[in-house]
Amino acid sequence: MKWWRQHAACAEEDPELFFPVSSLGPGATQTQRAKQVCAGCPVRTECLHWALETRQQAGVWGGTDEKERAAMLRRLKSLRPVP
Ligand code: SF4
Repeated sequence: MKWWRQHAACAEEDPELFFPVSSLGPGATQTQRAKQVCAGCPVRTECLHWALETRQQAGVWGGTDEKERAAMLRRLKSLRPVP
């Protein structure tokens, strides 16, 4: 288990909150609620780093949803120097 998970603000939350079935309607509301929990989380940076590093494709991690993380990874890839 990663050390930072012991400090996660979501530890007392229903894990399903962080995995909405849709990005629309109630799913969008659920995503916003999950992001609110992340906003007050002391290990948000560590969580986001892990989610990017391990390519987590589903759910809210580190205050981001899957579309936001995909955009971050595309941006990072475009910044890599060409060998
Ligand atoms: S940033 Fe969000 S998903 Fe990550 S540990 Fe904190 S509350 Fe949980």
